Amino acid sequence: MSVTMMIDTHSHPLLCSRPLTDWFANAKAAGVHTMIGVATTIQMGLDTLALAKTHPELHPSIGIHPSEADPAVDLDQLSALLAQHPEFKAIGEIGLDFYHKDNPPYAIQRQVFEAQLNAARHANLPVILHSRNADTEILEVLANYSDVRKVFHCFSSGVEFLHKTNDDTTYFSFTGMVTYTNKAFLNEVIAQLPLEKMMIETDCPYLTPTAFDGQENQPAFVGEVAKKIAQVKNIPLDLVLRTTTQTAKTFFTI
Ligand SMILES: [Zn+2]
Repeated sequence: MSVTMMIDTHSHPLLCSRPLTDWFANAKAAGVHTMIGVATTIQMGLDTLALAKTHPELHPSIGIHPSEADPAVDLDQLSALLAQHPEFKAIGEIGLDFYHKDNPPYAIQRQVFEAQLNAARHANLPVILHSRNADTEILEVLANYSDVRKVFHCFSSGVEFLHKTNDDTTYFSFTGMVTYTNKAFLNEVIAQLPLEKMMIETDCPYLTPTAFDGQENQPAFVGEVAKKIAQVKNIPLDLVLRTTTQTAKTFFTI
Protein backbone atom coordinates (compact mmCIF):
# COMPACT_ATOMS: atom_id res chain seq x y z
CA MET A 1 0.00 0.00 0.00
CA SER A 2 1.29 3.41 -0.91
CA VAL A 3 2.05 5.59 2.09
CA THR A 4 -0.38 8.21 0.84
CA MET A 5 -3.49 6.02 0.69
CA MET A 6 -6.32 7.54 2.67
CA ILE A 7 -10.04 7.17 3.30
CA ASP A 8 -12.29 10.21 3.66
CA THR A 9 -14.84 8.73 6.06
CA HIS A 10 -17.38 11.56 5.77
CA SER A 11 -18.09 13.45 2.55
CA HIS A 12 -21.23 14.88 0.95
CA PRO A 13 -20.61 14.67 -2.83
CA LEU A 14 -24.15 15.76 -3.62
CA LEU A 15 -23.82 18.97 -1.59
CA CYS A 16 -20.55 19.98 -3.25
CA SER A 17 -20.56 22.54 -6.07
CA ARG A 18 -17.31 21.40 -7.73
CA PRO A 19 -17.92 19.19 -10.83
CA LEU A 20 -17.96 15.59 -9.58
CA THR A 21 -15.47 14.48 -12.25
CA ASP A 22 -12.92 16.88 -10.68
CA TRP A 23 -13.99 15.88 -7.18
CA PHE A 24 -13.14 12.23 -7.85
CA ALA A 25 -10.02 12.95 -9.96
CA ASN A 26 -8.54 15.31 -7.36
CA ALA A 27 -9.12 12.74 -4.62
CA LYS A 28 -7.37 10.03 -6.61
CA ALA A 29 -4.42 12.30 -7.38
CA ALA A 30 -4.08 13.09 -3.66
CA GLY A 31 -4.03 9.39 -2.66
CA VAL A 32 -7.59 9.36 -1.31
CA HIS A 33 -8.73 6.03 -2.74
CA THR A 34 -12.02 5.62 -0.85
CA MET A 35 -14.75 7.90 0.43
CA ILE A 36 -17.90 7.36 2.45
CA GLY A 37 -20.70 9.42 0.87
CA VAL A 38 -22.89 10.44 3.77
CA ALA A 39 -26.61 11.15 3.50
CA THR A 40 -28.84 13.47 5.52
CA THR A 41 -32.11 12.15 4.03
CA ILE A 42 -33.32 8.85 2.58
CA GLN A 43 -33.46 10.44 -0.86
CA MET A 44 -29.84 11.62 -0.59
CA GLY A 45 -28.86 8.08 0.37
CA LEU A 46 -30.51 6.76 -2.79
CA ASP A 47 -28.88 9.45 -4.93
CA THR A 48 -25.47 8.67 -3.42
CA LEU A 49 -26.06 4.96 -4.11
CA ALA A 50 -26.77 5.83 -7.74
CA LEU A 51 -23.57 7.89 -7.98
CA ALA A 52 -21.56 5.04 -6.45
CA LYS A 53 -22.63 2.73 -9.31
CA THR A 54 -20.22 4.56 -11.61
CA HIS A 55 -17.66 5.41 -8.87
CA PRO A 56 -16.83 2.25 -6.92
CA GLU A 57 -14.45 4.21 -4.66
CA LEU A 58 -17.54 5.86 -3.14
CA HIS A 59 -19.45 3.91 -0.47
CA PRO A 60 -22.88 5.31 0.39
CA SER A 61 -24.54 5.64 3.77
CA ILE A 62 -28.22 6.30 4.30
CA GLY A 63 -30.00 7.97 7.19
CA ILE A 64 -32.04 10.86 8.48
CA HIS A 65 -30.16 13.80 9.99
CA PRO A 66 -31.71 15.13 13.23
CA SER A 67 -32.56 18.43 11.52
CA GLU A 68 -34.67 16.41 9.04
CA ALA A 69 -36.47 14.45 11.77
CA ASP A 70 -40.19 14.52 11.18
CA PRO A 71 -43.03 12.28 12.38
CA ALA A 72 -43.86 11.67 8.71
CA VAL A 73 -40.50 10.04 7.79
CA ASP A 74 -40.96 6.46 6.70
CA LEU A 75 -38.64 4.40 8.89
CA ASP A 76 -39.94 1.13 7.45
CA GLN A 77 -38.69 2.31 4.07
CA LEU A 78 -35.21 2.74 5.56
CA SER A 79 -35.12 -0.84 6.85
CA ALA A 80 -36.41 -2.16 3.52
CA LEU A 81 -33.71 -0.24 1.62
CA LEU A 82 -30.97 -1.56 3.92
CA ALA A 83 -32.11 -5.13 3.31
CA GLN A 84 -32.29 -4.53 -0.43
CA HIS A 85 -28.96 -2.70 -0.93
CA PRO A 86 -25.91 -4.18 0.82
CA GLU A 87 -23.95 -1.30 -0.77
CA PHE A 88 -25.03 0.88 2.15
CA LYS A 89 -22.12 0.62 4.56
CA ALA A 90 -23.53 2.70 7.43
CA ILE A 91 -26.59 4.45 8.76
CA GLY A 92 -25.97 8.17 8.97
CA GLU A 93 -25.71 10.77 9.69
CA ILE A 94 -28.03 10.43 12.65
CA GLY A 95 -28.17 11.89 16.14
CA LEU A 96 -29.37 14.93 18.02
CA ASP A 97 -28.95 18.62 17.19
CA PHE A 98 -30.05 21.35 19.59
CA TYR A 99 -28.34 24.21 17.78
CA HIS A 100 -31.76 25.50 16.73
CA LYS A 101 -33.08 24.91 20.26
CA ASP A 102 -36.04 22.57 20.19
CA ASN A 103 -36.48 22.47 16.42
CA PRO A 104 -37.32 19.80 15.42
CA PRO A 105 -38.70 19.00 18.89
CA TYR A 106 -36.50 16.78 21.07
CA ALA A 107 -39.12 14.04 21.29
CA ILE A 108 -39.24 13.73 17.49
CA GLN A 109 -35.44 13.85 17.08
CA ARG A 110 -35.04 11.17 19.72
CA GLN A 111 -37.71 8.92 18.24
CA VAL A 112 -36.14 9.06 14.76
CA PHE A 113 -32.64 8.58 16.21
CA GLU A 114 -33.61 5.52 18.27
CA ALA A 115 -35.50 3.96 15.37
CA GLN A 116 -32.34 4.23 13.25
CA LEU A 117 -30.17 2.77 16.01
CA ASN A 118 -32.56 -0.18 16.13
CA ALA A 119 -32.28 -0.51 12.35
CA ALA A 120 -28.47 -0.49 12.66
CA ARG A 121 -28.58 -3.20 15.30
CA HIS A 122 -30.91 -5.30 13.15
CA ALA A 123 -28.81 -4.84 9.99
CA ASN A 124 -25.49 -5.12 11.86
CA LEU A 125 -24.34 -1.80 10.38
CA PRO A 126 -22.33 0.95 12.05
CA VAL A 127 -23.78 4.42 12.64
CA ILE A 128 -22.33 7.84 11.86
CA LEU A 129 -23.25 10.18 14.70
CA HIS A 130 -24.03 13.87 14.49
CA SER A 131 -24.15 15.54 17.92
CA ARG A 132 -24.49 19.28 18.28
CA ASN A 133 -25.07 20.87 21.70
CA ALA A 134 -26.45 17.47 22.70
CA ASP A 135 -23.63 15.63 24.50
CA THR A 136 -25.64 14.69 27.60
CA GLU A 137 -28.72 13.53 25.74
CA ILE A 138 -26.81 11.56 23.10
CA LEU A 139 -24.88 9.62 25.75
CA GLU A 140 -28.14 8.85 27.52
CA VAL A 141 -29.57 7.33 24.32
CA LEU A 142 -26.37 5.48 23.39
CA ALA A 143 -26.19 3.80 26.80
CA ASN A 144 -28.77 1.36 25.40
CA TYR A 145 -26.74 0.66 22.25
CA SER A 146 -23.32 -0.43 23.47
CA ASP A 147 -23.43 -3.29 20.92
CA VAL A 148 -23.76 -0.92 17.90
CA ARG A 149 -20.53 0.33 16.25
CA LYS A 150 -20.55 4.11 16.18
CA VAL A 151 -18.38 7.03 15.16
CA PHE A 152 -18.74 10.55 16.49
CA HIS A 153 -18.35 12.52 13.28
CA CYS A 154 -16.55 15.89 13.39
CA PHE A 155 -15.68 15.33 17.00
CA SER A 156 -15.54 18.73 18.68
CA SER A 157 -16.24 18.11 22.36
CA GLY A 158 -13.60 18.24 25.07
CA VAL A 159 -11.48 15.53 26.69
CA GLU A 160 -14.06 14.99 29.47
CA PHE A 161 -16.37 13.49 26.84
CA LEU A 162 -13.81 10.79 25.96
CA HIS A 163 -13.92 9.39 29.48
CA LYS A 164 -17.69 8.95 29.23
CA THR A 165 -17.46 6.83 26.07
CA ASN A 166 -14.83 4.34 27.09
CA ASP A 167 -16.00 1.23 25.22
CA ASP A 168 -14.76 -0.72 22.23
CA THR A 169 -17.64 0.10 19.85
CA THR A 170 -17.04 3.87 19.90
CA TYR A 171 -14.79 5.77 17.47
CA PHE A 172 -14.10 9.44 16.75
CA SER A 173 -13.49 11.15 13.45
CA PHE A 174 -11.86 14.52 12.93
CA THR A 175 -12.30 17.19 10.26
CA GLY A 176 -10.32 20.21 9.08
CA MET A 177 -11.63 21.90 12.21
CA VAL A 178 -8.54 20.53 13.99
CA THR A 179 -6.43 22.98 11.94
CA TYR A 180 -8.34 26.06 13.16
CA THR A 181 -6.55 28.24 15.71
CA ASN A 182 -9.82 28.87 17.59
CA LYS A 183 -10.26 25.09 18.04
CA ALA A 184 -6.88 24.50 19.66
CA PHE A 185 -8.57 22.66 22.55
CA LEU A 186 -8.91 19.72 20.14
CA ASN A 187 -5.13 19.24 20.37
CA GLU A 188 -5.63 17.90 23.89
CA VAL A 189 -8.30 15.50 22.61
CA ILE A 190 -5.97 14.27 19.84
CA ALA A 191 -3.13 13.88 22.31
CA GLN A 192 -5.18 11.78 24.74
CA LEU A 193 -7.20 9.64 22.34
CA PRO A 194 -5.48 6.42 21.17
CA LEU A 195 -4.69 6.52 17.45
CA GLU A 196 -6.64 3.25 17.00
CA LYS A 197 -9.85 5.10 17.96
CA MET A 198 -9.46 7.76 15.25
CA MET A 199 -10.65 8.25 11.69
CA ILE A 200 -10.20 11.19 9.34
CA GLU A 201 -12.86 12.98 7.29
CA THR A 202 -13.50 16.21 5.41
CA ASP A 203 -17.28 16.72 5.88
CA CYS A 204 -16.93 18.43 2.50
CA PRO A 205 -18.16 20.88 1.23
CA TYR A 206 -17.84 22.22 4.79
CA LEU A 207 -14.89 22.78 7.14
CA THR A 208 -12.03 23.42 4.69
CA PRO A 209 -8.64 22.92 6.40
CA THR A 210 -6.68 26.14 6.97
CA ALA A 211 -4.08 25.23 4.31
CA PHE A 212 -6.82 25.49 1.63
CA ASP A 213 -8.57 28.58 2.98
CA GLY A 214 -10.94 30.15 0.49
CA GLN A 215 -11.62 26.93 -1.46
CA GLU A 216 -14.60 24.64 -1.10
CA ASN A 217 -13.59 21.54 0.82
CA GLN A 218 -13.16 18.21 -1.05
CA PRO A 219 -11.89 14.68 -0.21
CA ALA A 220 -8.46 15.55 -1.70
CA PHE A 221 -7.87 17.76 1.37
CA VAL A 222 -8.34 15.07 4.02
CA GLY A 223 -4.57 14.58 4.39
CA GLU A 224 -4.43 17.89 6.30
CA VAL A 225 -6.32 16.23 9.16
CA ALA A 226 -3.85 13.34 9.24
CA LYS A 227 -0.94 15.80 9.21
CA LYS A 228 -2.35 17.60 12.23
CA ILE A 229 -2.80 14.32 14.15
CA ALA A 230 0.79 13.31 13.35
CA GLN A 231 2.07 16.70 14.48
CA VAL A 232 0.11 16.78 17.76
CA LYS A 233 0.91 13.17 18.65
CA ASN A 234 4.48 13.58 17.40
CA ILE A 235 4.36 10.34 15.39
CA PRO A 236 5.10 9.60 11.70
CA LEU A 237 2.42 10.66 9.21
CA ASP A 238 2.66 7.25 7.57
CA LEU A 239 1.62 5.60 10.83
CA VAL A 240 -1.43 7.90 11.08
CA LEU A 241 -2.43 7.11 7.50
CA ARG A 242 -2.00 3.36 7.80
CA THR A 243 -3.79 3.14 11.14
CA THR A 244 -6.75 5.39 10.32
CA THR A 245 -7.20 3.65 6.97
CA GLN A 246 -7.24 0.22 8.60
CA THR A 247 -9.67 1.40 11.27
CA ALA A 248 -12.03 2.81 8.63
CA LYS A 249 -11.89 -0.41 6.57
CA THR A 250 -12.80 -2.53 9.56
CA PHE A 251 -15.42 -0.12 10.89
CA PHE A 252 -17.28 0.23 7.58
CA THR A 253 -16.46 -3.31 6.33
CA ILE A 254 -15.06 -1.99 3.04
ZN1 LIG B 1 -21.83 15.74 7.47
